[in-house]
Amino acid sequence: MKEGCFIRAYKYWIVPETAQSEPFLKGVANAFGQTRFVYNKLKDYVDKKLDNREKLPSKTDLNNYVNRKLKKQHPFLRGSVDKFCFTHAAYQLHDAYSAFLEGKRGQPHFRKKFDSVQSFTTNFTNNNIKVDEENGIVELPYFNKRKGCPVKAVIHRSIQGRIIGAQVVRHATGDYYVVIICEVKIDELPENEKAVGLDLGIKDSVVCSDGTVINSIRALYQSEKSVKRTQKSLSRKYEAAKKRTPEGCRVQLSKNYLKDKAKLARKHKRVRNQRYDLAQKTSNKIVNENQIIIIEDLHVKGMLKNHHLAKAIADAGFYQLRRCIEYKAYALGRILVRVDRWLPSSQLCSHCWYQNKEVKNLSIRVWDCPNCHTVHHRDVNAAKVIKAAGLEMLSKGYYHSTSCRNAAKLSVWRGRYSQTNLTSPQ
Ligand SMILES: [Zn+2]
Repeated sequence: MKEGCFIRAYKYWIVPETAQSEPFLKGVANAFGQTRFVYNKLKDYVDKKLDNREKLPSKTDLNNYVNRKLKKQHPFLRGSVDKFCFTHAAYQLHDAYSAFLEGKRGQPHFRKKFDSVQSFTTNFTNNNIKVDEENGIVELPYFNKRKGCPVKAVIHRSIQGRIIGAQVVRHATGDYYVVIICEVKIDELPENEKAVGLDLGIKDSVVCSDGTVINSIRALYQSEKSVKRTQKSLSRKYEAAKKRTPEGCRVQLSKNYLKDKAKLARKHKRVRNQRYDLAQKTSNKIVNENQIIIIEDLHVKGMLKNHHLAKAIADAGFYQLRRCIEYKAYALGRILVRVDRWLPSSQLCSHCWYQNKEVKNLSIRVWDCPNCHTVHHRDVNAAKVIKAAGLEMLSKGYYHSTSCRNAAKLSVWRGRYSQTNLTSPQ
């Protein structure tokens, strides 16, 4: 990729006029099914290789296996909707296995027809992907005017940069989306003087060191009752269906079960969208306003193991928020500092660094320092401590926890802070 370029995806909702039309449904069903078939065959192939203690086949090997073996054995693959979706399936499998072998992720699963999300991805070649913003029409390989099923979608946002691929996705709600993947050149934002420390919390989503509080919406908490009710009704219908079915057969699910399933998916989607919206807005605000952003390097996966707090933590959407802040800060030329997760940020006094162990108790919201008698708001104080610790790390050049896309800029800012005395946090 060219310097200063980033991948950006534009996700458009496909309108029912297309999403419910016969040629479209037939086309996607084929593409999803064949991609899934190829992916599973490849996984089987890779599993056998690994069992024989051979090394992971390369992307090219996998692709050749599809073209030379699978297409011969299974002639229906030759009449595929689009040839690149198999290449992508091979690449996705390769990425999944590389991550697995490096110990970053678990072993890849087989894909199933009833997985809640189905998709296929394709490449841009010979102008085969077009977006007509005026008429709201997207053209993809096979799904184009020539084949009689161009995709009508809500183009709520115009595309920038160079198109490199596209993906069609079906969600559990039954909605279809087309995702246009682009390579976009993003310029750095003009620099400013502000630095901010962020404390992520359950009660308030984000507390900034300057005292700004961004409220948590607690999306699941709000619709929990309604989600529970639908889940119960769904489960009742499943149990009834299980009783009806003779032993040893696949459970015959009723029409009402499927209706409930879609209803539940819609409710979960609402919760997900609310969290996503807050994460985007919050991260935009923080990244636009501050040059240096200091966050705690929280171990979210570990925190979720605490059963008392797991639901509240998951509901606050920490991981997504942090991910948004990180990638936006990088793309827009901001400096991001990750502070060690073992720093007792909420116990330290941001004025004199005195450690007050009594504040460990989460119910204490306001406390005064026994050493210097400053009155602290729990989360604002924590954010101030995080900020001070982060600036110190920046000045000392802890490069593994500091990131900026522009190395020259980073060293300038580092120099600026190393001249000031940072032993005291204020
Ligand atoms: Zn103090």
